[in-house]
Amino acid sequence: MSSLVRPLNDSLAYILCPGCRDNGNPNVNLQRDNAIGARSPFRCPVNASHVYDGAQLTALGAAMVPASEIVMEQPDPRSMAYKIFLLPATWERFNQKFKGRVHITIATLLEALIDGQFLIITGEDAAKLKAKGLNNSQQILAALDGIAKLESDLETANARLGRLMEIMKAAGAGT
Ligand SMILES: [Zn+2]
Repeated sequence: MSSLVRPLNDSLAYILCPGCRDNGNPNVNLQRDNAIGARSPFRCPVNASHVYDGAQLTALGAAMVPASEIVMEQPDPRSMAYKIFLLPATWERFNQKFKGRVHITIATLLEALIDGQFLIITGEDAAKLKAKGLNNSQQILAALDGIAKLESDLETANARLGRLMEIMKAAGAGT
């Protein structure tokens, strides 16, 4: 299984430059000035006039780099890379949706496929299940158990009704 590690870089602040943001370039990662006693410890690698201290960054509403961009997925060291063929749009959407857990998701999916203990429901059927509030296997199983219980309750009720009819018949009711 792969694991998640944080390859934090000491020279990066993981805060986005508010000056560049205001210039229409929102993704510039500020650098940390690690010199002891630096008055403005955050410096922009793009524009030398963008230097800030923490209070200024707060006042300017500087955004943190999203954690999903910092946490890089580290594949299982025993694993190997293989070439597979996908449409570029599929790969891009998969990476967006499973950012930081791309490799573990693929590995888990492939292992489940091999095991055969696997059920894929997609498209219209999945939409119908979701419309009924069934979003995962536990909910679907609970619904099936509920139906089975209803059926057995109905059988019990029918059996009681049948017995009642016999008693009434024996008592000459309706004749
Ligand atoms: Zn800047």
